[in-house]
Amino acid sequence: VPGRHAELLEDLNPAQRDAVTHTGVPLLVVAGAGSGKTRVLTRRIAYLLGARDVHPGQIMAITFTNKAAAEMRDRVSELVGRRSNAMWVSTFHSMCVRILRREAKTLEMSSSFSIYDSDDTKRLITLVARDLDLDPKRYPARTLAVGISNLKNELVDADGAASRAANDLERRVAEVYAEYQRRLAQANAMDFDDLIMRTVELLQVFPDVAEYYRRRFRHVLVDEYQDTNHAQYTLVRELAGTETSGTGVPPAELCVVGDADQSIYAFRGATIRNIEEFERDFPNAHTILLEQNYRSTQTILSAANAVIARNPNRRDKRLWTDSGDGEKIVGYVADNDHDEAAFVANEIDALADRGEANYADVAVFYRTNNQSRVFEEIFIRLGLPYRVVGGVRFYERREVRDMLAYLRVLANPEDTVSLRRILNVPKRGIGDRAEAVVATHAERERISFAAALRQAAGGGIPLLNPRSQKAIAGFVALWDDLLELVERGDEVADVLEAVQERTGYRAELEESDDPQDASRVENLTELVTVAREFTEFAVEVANAESGSPEDTEDTDGAEDGAESAPPAEDAAAGVPAAGSLPAFLERVSLVADADSIPSPDGGEDGEEQDAGVVTLMTVHTAKGLEYPVVFGTGWEDGVFPHMRALGDPAELAEERRLAYVAITRARQRLYLSRAMVRSAWGQPSSNPPSRFFDEIPAELLDWRREEPSSSGMGGGFGSPRAATTWGRKAGFGESAQSGFGSPKTSFNKGWKDTVALKLDVGDRVSHDKYGLGTVVSTDGTGPRATATIDFGGSGKVRLMLIGSVPMVKL
Ligand code: ATP
Ligand code: MG
Repeated sequence: VPGRHAELLEDLNPAQRDAVTHTGVPLLVVAGAGSGKTRVLTRRIAYLLGARDVHPGQIMAITFTNKAAAEMRDRVSELVGRRSNAMWVSTFHSMCVRILRREAKTLEMSSSFSIYDSDDTKRLITLVARDLDLDPKRYPARTLAVGISNLKNELVDADGAASRAANDLERRVAEVYAEYQRRLAQANAMDFDDLIMRTVELLQVFPDVAEYYRRRFRHVLVDEYQDTNHAQYTLVRELAGTETSGTGVPPAELCVVGDADQSIYAFRGATIRNIEEFERDFPNAHTILLEQNYRSTQTILSAANAVIARNPNRRDKRLWTDSGDGEKIVGYVADNDHDEAAFVANEIDALADRGEANYADVAVFYRTNNQSRVFEEIFIRLGLPYRVVGGVRFYERREVRDMLAYLRVLANPEDTVSLRRILNVPKRGIGDRAEAVVATHAERERISFAAALRQAAGGGIPLLNPRSQKAIAGFVALWDDLLELVERGDEVADVLEAVQERTGYRAELEESDDPQDASRVENLTELVTVAREFTEFAVEVANAESGSPEDTEDTDGAEDGAESAPPAEDAAAGVPAAGSLPAFLERVSLVADADSIPSPDGGEDGEEQDAGVVTLMTVHTAKGLEYPVVFGTGWEDGVFPHMRALGDPAELAEERRLAYVAITRARQRLYLSRAMVRSAWGQPSSNPPSRFFDEIPAELLDWRREEPSSSGMGGGFGSPRAATTWGRKAGFGESAQSGFGSPKTSFNKGWKDTVALKLDVGDRVSHDKYGLGTVVSTDGTGPRATATIDFGGSGKVRLMLIGSVPMVKL
């Protein structure tokens, strides 16, 4: 329908239009922030469906979060209606789960595998390392986990890791890796990285499987391509196929969009190589550049351009906008982190009072999750509605994880990590020793932990004392009871309620008078609600899908001569039934941080009042989003850029990209602030201003409050009194001395050569904030050097002697 696709192209600029209508060879769209990359991707899908008669089932679109996937699906269905249901729009991980469940047989595993998140992974690695007698101080589980994850991101398996190991740590990692995989397989589980790696393996080892998916998905689209790692890149290539793939299927049309300047996941193995060498990876690829920004004011853009221009080895691209200069960027220097948060809160209130912004228009960014607490305290005190994205999330709470562990055990008895988690939760008399006896028995007999447990219940493990045996028998009976509910097809929510009741878990919390337990009970209820909604939604979707025959793939003829009809979706194989327990667990395992971001209009569920809520999140989580008003906080060297990056050019470049992401989220107003003193893990530390401030042209910044120059300390600012007040408030007075010297001083790591001051006991000093003082003791050396200084009226304060300490030796 020519009229319709004209409409699809109307509000695009010529370059965007080219990208939307491009046909044939692989297409790369590279462009700076806010230039419409995501819009192009969405519109391209609509155009494929509306103007090129592509069947929705032939489209695979990959986004960075489930939230982005849902949004993209919504936008496409606004444009083309319900036909969009048959598309695959998902994250890499969700897509892989879907493929792996269908192809489980080929990989000789059960389709009901569990997905271990990073917490489960760490638990299992801890167990493995303990069994291998590794010293946890020398080889912390975290280090081992990161090592294994990096290998998987590079598609290196345990054997490969062993043969390439070049030092002691690498050899240990390889050793743990091998045993960890064995245990995962035993538990019929996969971790996040396995999802990608196993899918790649599947496509590489089984040509007929690869051919199936290549025939099926004739269009592969990827957003945020700059944050793909090697495994994901390989997956895209295997899925789309190349001229030389040898399956006889011509390659799919591939369209990826990204911005090398926004690559911020190097720590997860992401590499901008994938963008930079796209044309080498896909010979005859076509590249389109977008240069007009539709999101921000010129002021905001100029600041972003100036900052990112400092990064070495990048392709310069000039973003422009015709939306005018707009307001200047507001800069603010606060005395401490509490004052910074107060400034932000007051400013948000003022904007709302003047009708210049709704709460929902505002986002507050910080570098790391732990910085949210101070904001939360102030926001709560002022009654400012807010929501924190990330941090200790609902699904990470202990009680929620316990419940999910029960459900996982019901779905997959081989899931040993989950089984051992709940074996004695709530306490039912199965102690560590009994658990160890069962585990050893399982090892020796080469049976699963679950099977050993059943033998134990029947008296098959003589080593167990009768009391333990009885407790285990009770547990197995309970387990069987619950299994019966699952088997007769009870709804997930009902099973969950039964778990909460019959285990006594809920009753125990209800009887407790610890206020925390009351909120735990609420979370249990909340989880039941989540399950209830999940089932209702699944049923709705299933009805919608079966009610629209034109969407089912088998009715799709080969309308496009060049593209053969995709084979019918084999509904049976491995895909968890809509609304089932495995489907629920799958959904829950894959919720990412960004999925809890409220929609800009204050939540489509209508739970929030009209003005909505302020959103608090880390800069990482903010990628791809936009807000009319943005507060970038904690712009201090050692915070943002992160201290880890200060001595490391590659890390610093990554931090600068992060700053670029932060700045470019703002549409109309941008605030950038820092605190002169900040409490970090219980210690006050003074950080110099972020170097990124200096990189923004001065004329773009309007300093609402600047730090006092070191000579003139007027207006009560920097007086010992003021310091005492906040010090006490924040709990850093003399009384807090005992908390100092905690092992957390590793905080200083990375401050290689920035030690500013060498002090000895008895030295006299003058501090910008605390005034005159005498050094009473010193501790640590180099980057860990600290001094405890008696400032008389201001009390004793322990200070780190790193960075540019606002203090001189007299
Ligand atoms: P990021 O790099 O941050 O992911 P992006 O390149 O994906 O940004 P989009 O989010 O697609 O950019 O677009 C930024 C904003 O500009 C959105 O609000 C979008 O609707 C708007 N926009 C994009 N192209 C146009 C256009 N041609 N006309 C009007 N508005 C546009
Ligand atoms: Mg985008």
